[in-house]
Amino acid sequence: MLTNRQQQCLQGIGIQVWSERRAGPGETGDRPRFSEQPEHQIDLTQSGETSQEKRGLSPDSNAIEGSTTSVPENPVAETSVPTSFDSWDSIIEAIHACNACELGRNCTQKVPGVGDQQADLLIIGEGPGHEEDIRGEPFVGRSGQLLDRMLAAIGISREQVYITNIVKCRPPNNRDPKSHEAQQCRVYLEAQIEQLAPRVILSVGRVSAHNLLNTNEPVGKLIKQMHKLPGTEIPVKVPDAAMSNSELWFRRMTLADIRWVMNVEREVYQFPWTDKIFNDCIRVGYHCWLALFQQSIVGHAVISVTAGESHMLNLSIAREHQRKGYGRQFIEFLIEEARSREARTMLLEVRPSNTAAISCYNSAGFNEIGCRKDYYPATEGREDALLFARHISPPGDVPGR
Ligand code: SF4
Repeated sequence: MLTNRQQQCLQGIGIQVWSERRAGPGETGDRPRFSEQPEHQIDLTQSGETSQEKRGLSPDSNAIEGSTTSVPENPVAETSVPTSFDSWDSIIEAIHACNACELGRNCTQKVPGVGDQQADLLIIGEGPGHEEDIRGEPFVGRSGQLLDRMLAAIGISREQVYITNIVKCRPPNNRDPKSHEAQQCRVYLEAQIEQLAPRVILSVGRVSAHNLLNTNEPVGKLIKQMHKLPGTEIPVKVPDAAMSNSELWFRRMTLADIRWVMNVEREVYQFPWTDKIFNDCIRVGYHCWLALFQQSIVGHAVISVTAGESHMLNLSIAREHQRKGYGRQFIEFLIEEARSREARTMLLEVRPSNTAAISCYNSAGFNEIGCRKDYYPATEGREDALLFARHISPPGDVPGR
């Protein structure tokens, strides 16, 4: 039996087969829990890179896909698309077996979606790009890093959401999905929305926004307000591409920077490092970095690299610059720094109480591998340190998450 919200989803996206649909009012109180994240001392909930992977843009590819009555441009269906699904498994299986449009014949593999199948937040992109096609997962590579940063900015990780695309197969040369392709694939997206019954949808990219919202409005207009999935009460947010302009740049820390670094240390840590420690780190050749946004220093970090192993010894973001995605960008930079110095593992320690940092490290590919008892000083007694590690692939490999 479908819930009211599920029925609303289906109604909004044009499914005609629901005999159980009721006209009752929508459920109330559906608000994204991700907006309720607590403040954290250190901004390690933020993500890394900036630019979403760009696809080739064809001038006529902005077609609205919202109408279920439009005629496909090039109906080449070799297999019929199922009309109903009773489970996530049936959706995924059907996608993998699908050859309903030409995209299915040219892709490396189908990319149905990934994430928590009970998530409140559904993220819908345009279609798989090159890396997604190779790895079978949506939003990996630079586009994934952008997405991770956007999620981190609202205090949640990739694992807490469900991520999919308008089309499940890669368009050749990363072009936009064509009208009939999006329409052929719509049944799977509808089924995913039905199964998930999300509290909110994040529509990433012009093609996604135009398809979902049944509009041809410029994205610049769409980002200015919350929308609803047509015919439903499900909020749809189109994120501001300007987030990609929040790129940090980095320079080495010098002795002259230590005064500023100490101000941040004292601000964000109950038990800060001393200026002597930073002095020693610079003097012995540890890799001491500052992160800057425009001309403002926003954070500092120290890593060591020895015999293929890197240790992240310190990573701090000034309080005024927290919750902007800078912590995650800094982590990605430090991983690249370690990679360039032939490190194949990065290790770090974090307090169990620092849940924001742990979430961020997890989203950056770190896994917990151990615990050091009574490692950190604490207000009362000592606090354990959780030990995290991340594999670093050699330069030229697809970076592991
Ligand atoms: S893009 Fe969608 S409809 Fe086309 S073949 Fe792939 S799964 Fe099937």
